[in-house]
Order: sequence, then C-alpha cells, then structure tokens
Amino acid sequence: MRTDALVLAALTGFAAAQNPVDRKAHEAFERAEKAVADSKYSAAWKLYRQLARKYPQTAWGKIAALRTEPTAYLGWGVLQENGDSTNRVDVVVMGDGYALDDQNEFEDVAKSVVDVFRRQKLLGEYLTYHNFVRVNLTSKDQGVTGFGRTKETAIGGYIAGKVQGQVGVDVGKAKGWLDQLDHHDGYAIAIVKAGSSGTGGGGIAAVGGRADETLVHEWGHAFGGLSDEYSTFTGHRGSPRNTVNVSTTDDLAKVPWQHFIAAGYPGVGAYRGADGRIKGAYKPTSGQCRMASGGNFCPVCREQMVLQIYRRVDPIDAHEPATVPEKDAALPVDRDRKFEVTVMQPDTHDLEVRFHVLPEAAAIRVTGDARLADRRQRGKLQPIADKGTDGSYLGHGRHSLTIGPRELEPGRYQVVCRVRDDAQPNGQARPWVLRDELDLLASERVWWIDVPPR
Ligand SMILES: [Zn+2]
Repeated sequence: MRTDALVLAALTGFAAAQNPVDRKAHEAFERAEKAVADSKYSAAWKLYRQLARKYPQTAWGKIAALRTEPTAYLGWGVLQENGDSTNRVDVVVMGDGYALDDQNEFEDVAKSVVDVFRRQKLLGEYLTYHNFVRVNLTSKDQGVTGFGRTKETAIGGYIAGKVQGQVGVDVGKAKGWLDQLDHHDGYAIAIVKAGSSGTGGGGIAAVGGRADETLVHEWGHAFGGLSDEYSTFTGHRGSPRNTVNVSTTDDLAKVPWQHFIAAGYPGVGAYRGADGRIKGAYKPTSGQCRMASGGNFCPVCREQMVLQIYRRVDPIDAHEPATVPEKDAALPVDRDRKFEVTVMQPDTHDLEVRFHVLPEAAAIRVTGDARLADRRQRGKLQPIADKGTDGSYLGHGRHSLTIGPRELEPGRYQVVCRVRDDAQPNGQARPWVLRDELDLLASERVWWIDVPPR
C-alpha cells in the first residue's frame, strides 16, 4: 500500500519534532479516525477532506487526501473485543464494492459475522478466543469484475468459479489493507457486496453479500487450511493431493486422518468424492462436514480448527507476578507469595489448571512465556510426574497458589502452573482433539523460588 510510507513518515515526524501545524493536522486526523470508529462515516470523510485542504503539505494531510479518494481505506472500528489482541485470533472484516454511503450497510453485515461465529458449534465454543474488527473501505464501483466488465473496487472482487455468483477477491489487495492496522494475524473476511457464495484461501475468506453458513466454509479454507469435501466440479484444480481432510487413497492405513481410524472414531472412514471431483479424492465422513454441505465440521476438520486456534492463542491469558525462568533470579519466599494465572474460557467447558511445586532435583526445562506468532515454535512440554494441586479459584478465570515461608523446607524450587484444554465441550462423548503432538492445547508458567533458612 502506498499509504504505508506516508504513515511511517508521519509517525517518524511525530516522534522527532512536531511543529504546531503537524500537531494540529495530527489531531484532526485522529478526530476523523475516531468518527470512523464511531460509525460516523460521512462526518469522517468530511473531516479527512477538510484536513487535506487545510494542511496539504503535512504527511497527515496527504494520508487524509488518499482516504477521500473514490477507492480508499477509511478507518476501522471494533465489532467485538474479547481480550488482548496479542492473544486472540484477530478476525478482520472488510467490504468490497461498498461506497461511502453504503458503509452502514457494510457495518450491519460485518456485525452479523460475529453472530455467525457465535451460532456455529466449534467457533461458538471458542468465540472468546477471537477479536472482531471491521475495516471500512470505500469502492469507486459496485459489483464485481467478470462477464466482460471491469470494476474498480477496494479488494478487486471478481467472479471466481463456474458456480453462479461465486466471488473471489485479490488476496494481495486484502493483505495490503490488513497492513493498515497496527495488529492483525493475516486473516480477513471480505464481504463482496455483489455476488453470492464465496472462496477462501491464503488467509482471506470471501463471501458474497451477507454472512451465513458459506462464511464458515470459507473460514475453514482461509483459517483452517481445509479442503473442500464436496465432489461437485467448480473449476479445474490440478491433481488431487493429500491434505488434512482429503486423501488420494481410501486405504485406511494411509489416510491423513489415520489416527481417527486407529482410535475407532465412529463414522470416520474414507468416502469417495471430495475436492471438487468424484474420482481420486476421499473425505473422512460420508458428507456431513461443513466443508461439504453439512452444518458442522466433521471430527477431522474440527480437530484441525481447534489446533489452528491454539497455534495463535495461549490457554494462559495472563499471569502475576512476572515469571522467573532463571534459577539465579529465584524469588525469595520471605513472606507469603501468591502465584496467579488467568486462563481462557471456552463457552461450555473449563480448562484444567494444576500447580506443581518441584524441588530443584525434579525441575523441568522452562519453555518461556513469550507470545509467539505461531505457538508451534514453543515445542512440547516436558512431562511432570508430580500430581500437583488445583490452587484456589478466584473467579473470572483467575487461579492462584499461595506459598508461605514455613510451608517448605529451605531450598530452591520451581513453581509450575500447567493449564490444559481437554477440548471436550459439555455433552460431547469424545474430545475434539485426538492428536496434539506439540501440546498446543497446553501451556505453563514457571517461577523459581528460594525458601530461606529459618
Ligand atoms: Zn471435514
């Protein structure tokens, strides 16, 4: 995006020495952005135009001018905030083919995205693991490119497949708009005003006109990396290949979801027809999956979606005090010390929380508590033989363990808090995740402590 350089220039100028003109321009810019956040779209546009005319030489004035162009980034607003964005899946909803006057209509559709997630069984169970943001884009043209017409729209919506009205967007353009935000995870839902049905991939789910069950399917592609489980031809796709939920063989010993077969999971096998073809591709169930035309994700897709969520979201949302990963920096227990974690809260089940106090000889290798862009980088957790204790529940997801100076023999210990999601929501006979090779559903915090001699 060309505005990036300008934003950077403006921020750099701001950090260095702000002259009064720059400061006034910056204040005006913030007022315009706030108007977008408050859903006052035409007021925001007027504020940008005033700013562009009054302070044309400032970086802020130049960005404001870009924002009043027929196709432009106007600003953003919150749809639903469930926590710190560094520990949530950021779902960014953007619109294609919406003019300035259509922004309220776009906002209504964007809001309904949250409802679609809430109503869907899996996404609803983990709703609080997501934050929802709208990005307001204006488009010069309505409609989508196709049938011999070319339209100028913000995300380049086009007719994607042979299915009537199936829309796609320019993934590069969508990612460019994402980069206007301070923070995002590379995922967006593009609502294309004209069109129906959708496409998904590369982190971007495109849906036509409104948010409905199609959105869940496209999110399965965009966020989950899942393949289609329907067999209807919608366009050439090249040779079939093995993915999480599509197999090129019906040999049950070789399908990618072999661990479900080994576990004797009811209903899971290898069924003919998937990936938009009848021959050479097999799916895990006989067609009940949302990646086909069913209502919910099949067990194989469900596992993948939960793992994908936990690649980004740490089951431990906060902790207190700061962890002490180095033995040499051990915290002296010269008085009562309280160790506290705040854990994530799925809709119908709770995470397991255990506190362990390990003597130095039984200490574990510490994994650290840095927020990782992909939690697979952390690796597996070391097994702990100690059974541990529950600690105390303080409400609102907060759990604590208090250790006093007289409770332990003098010496060095590790206080370890382990949190794990069994991924077995209320009413489910089996867990949703059978294989979690990297312990993504678990997390830990570690504090070295030093109990002084009495
Ligand atoms: Zn499936």
